[in-house]
Formats: sequence, C-alpha cells, structure tokens
Amino acid sequence: MIQSALGPSPLEENLRYLTDTIGGRVTGSPVADRAVGWAVEALHHAGVDEVHTEKFTIPVSWSEGNSHIEILSPEPFPVRMASIGWSPATPADGITANIIDVGAGNDDGFAKAGASVRDAIVLVHANFLVTWDDLVNEYNLDKEIIDRATKAGAAAIFWMSTRPNLLLYRHTSAVNGELEPLPQAVLAREDAERIARFLAAGQKVQAHFDMPNHIGGPANSENVVAEIRGREKPDEFVLVGAHLDSWDLGTGALDDGCNVAMIIDAARIIHASGTIPRRSIRFVFFTGEEQGMLGSAAYAHAHRAELDRMIAAVIFDSGVGRITGYSLGGRKDIVSAVRATLEPLKPLDVMDLTLDAGMDTDNFDFILEGVPTLEANQERANYMLNYHAASDTFDKVDFKELKHNAAIAAVTAYALADGEERIGSRQSRAQIEELLKQTGLDKEMKDAGFWPLWEKSDRGREP
Ligand SMILES: [Zn+2]
Repeated sequence: MIQSALGPSPLEENLRYLTDTIGGRVTGSPVADRAVGWAVEALHHAGVDEVHTEKFTIPVSWSEGNSHIEILSPEPFPVRMASIGWSPATPADGITANIIDVGAGNDDGFAKAGASVRDAIVLVHANFLVTWDDLVNEYNLDKEIIDRATKAGAAAIFWMSTRPNLLLYRHTSAVNGELEPLPQAVLAREDAERIARFLAAGQKVQAHFDMPNHIGGPANSENVVAEIRGREKPDEFVLVGAHLDSWDLGTGALDDGCNVAMIIDAARIIHASGTIPRRSIRFVFFTGEEQGMLGSAAYAHAHRAELDRMIAAVIFDSGVGRITGYSLGGRKDIVSAVRATLEPLKPLDVMDLTLDAGMDTDNFDFILEGVPTLEANQERANYMLNYHAASDTFDKVDFKELKHNAAIAAVTAYALADGEERIGSRQSRAQIEELLKQTGLDKEMKDAGFWPLWEKSDRGREP
C-alpha cells in the first residue's frame, strides 16, 4: 500500500479538478452541490463497493454581496475588505460611522474607547497567525471580542487581517450554523494599520460601509459516504473523513480539498491491494464543517443506532504538512492499542500520539458520542498563511507530501479495520462528561456558547 501511494495516481488530477474547475465550495451553494456530485464519481473510480449521499439541513444560507467601503475623512483612500462568513448584511443604505480603535479588543481596549464605541465601527488589531495555538486562540478571542462589541452597542467590527501583503480571508465563529450577531469584515492588514495611524494621531476617521450579504433560510446540503465492505464483521466500521466544503475567496486546496483527494486515493490504494479488511471502512466527505461541523454532527445523529459498532473516526483537516501522528481526543485508554495498530507505519514516523481535544474539526461530534477518534497531527507547512484565504489554491499543495500522507491514511484505516480487537469501546455519557472535564473541552464548549447543545443532547450522546 505504501508503494502504491507513492507511485503514479489520479491524486493530482483529482485535486486540480476539485479546486480549479469546481472551485470554492461554500456549504449550501450550487458549487458545493457540484463538488458532491464530483466526489461520488471520484469514489466510484477508486473502486469502493458503494457510494451514496446523505442529506441534512443547515439553518441559514449565506453568500457575500458587493461589499465596499469608502473612507470619508480625514482623507479618502482605498481599503480592501471581505465579509466574515455568516455575517449579517449592513442596513439597506449601509453604515456611515466613525471607526474607533479598540486595540486588541480586550476589556482594556474597550474601556479606553469608552462611550465612543456606541454606533461606531470598532477596529480590532491582531498579531500575525503563525502557530496552531495562534489559530485556536484567534477563534476563542474573537468570540469574547464580538461579545464586548455587541454589549457596547457597536454597529460593526473591522478585523485587522492576521496575514501580510493585503491577503484577505474569511471564516465564522458560529458553532451551529447560526448568523453572527454583528456585521463584520476582515480588512487588509496594511489598510487597517493606515486607519489605526490616523486614529493614533488624533484624527477622526469616518467611513461609509456597505455589505449587502445574501442571507437565506435553511438550505440542503449533503455528506458523501462510500464503503469498502469488511470480510468478517462488515457491520463494524472505521470512518475516514475530511470535509468537502470550503470558503470561497480561494479554492479550498489546503483546507480541505487536498485531504479529500488524499482519502479518495487511500480508497483506491486499499481497493487495489486486493486485500479486504476484517471490518468495513467508510470514506466520508462532510459538508458544513466551516459553519460548526454541521455535516459530521448530522452524520453522528443519523447513525446513532450504529455508533456502538463504530471503531473510530479518523479525520484529516490540517492541510498538506507531513502527518506526524494522531491526536486521540483525550482517550488515554486507547493509546497503547493505537500504537500497536500503527506499527506497520513505523518507518514513516507517525507515533506522535497526543491527548488534546478541541472543537476544531469533524472528529468533535464523535468525541461527544463516545467514539474513539484519531485526528491527524500534521506539520504546519504553509497552512497558516493561506488559512481560509484568497491564496488557498492548488499551487500551494506539495504532492510529494500528500502522497506520503495518503500512504499513512490508507494503512491507518486498513490496520484499524483489520485488527483482531477494537482499539477501544464506545464511552458512556458519564465517561464522555469526565473526558470533557479532563481535556478542558468543557470550558471551550461553554465559552463558545455550545454547552446547551450538549446538555440537551442536540449534539452528543444521549443519556
Ligand atoms: Zn478544514
């Protein structure tokens, strides 16, 4: 399988088609629907036994309109911006308001700005995004800042881009597909700094800001589900997943198109090996990941009755950096079994097993269901600079690394499905609750406003 992964394959052409021909795939959009149709075909070609799609609904559909900002005083100058995903639109005649600098957006920054924040647009400074920790931090901080801005009566938020060279990106801090509370845009770092310098010099900056985002009611979306049937226990299964949806300023190559193409290739490699694993392997492409892991939540919900027979969810969502191991989502009890299972990959050095657990990708709802999860730990490579940005395009993908990762994904999936024993059992709700405490995931869920969804079992295992 390792040799087959490193040799000639349709991997590159698959990703070229997904990113260049189909393009940025926002959940609920016609482009995302095209991507679903394409993935079904590509999985058929890989030689799986069966492929189908599974529908679910997202609460709000969204696309950016013709956004635009004019600086009215002290001097007109061009400002490049993009709406945050799932941001409400500005009122019909836009917002004309002062821009007020709130520094990093902490309590201190808002206190200094005082009453001037009311009905103003607040400008929030940001450091450069460099590490995985910065990324997690950014989401956590954003939520607090949005909260402060809302309470202070701000009209909108301008976020200084965390990337250099006029690079724009968008994401949302929504955790369940809901609309953001305030209109928000990312401003090119250089333009935001220019505004900040006028303010620091004591000059008022007034702007007219139009962001006529298109916002619709609930929309249909689909997960793509394929299977290689197991030879002995076909009703038990390992899920291997990535997300098919992306943002749309770029074409979602690193996030997460490369791993969709990589998993299609893993399916091809396993099929081509001519060996059939003891249990089934399901290859699942989720949509709605960017709006709060809605596709994987829908999948976990719809398949509740068979989750006792689910061996593990193996998720790839960190670009093209080399896989160094897996995060096991706090499951200390599975560490030694996973280590033994990954033994065939010893030459590829994938034993960096960690116990962190976060709300970052599609393994989350499986943690909440008590199913063992393996989320790939990857080197950061060029992920941060291009994260959700206009520059997340095909040319950023290193295919030598991606093939290396395809070998790891194929062997990981096969070995988990073929093991004599399962790596661990499904946890009870009480055990999950304990794991949430131990990993600090409970705090993250509370800060994100997610806790009620868990308490009501809208997300996660029923009592
Ligand atoms: Zn992603």
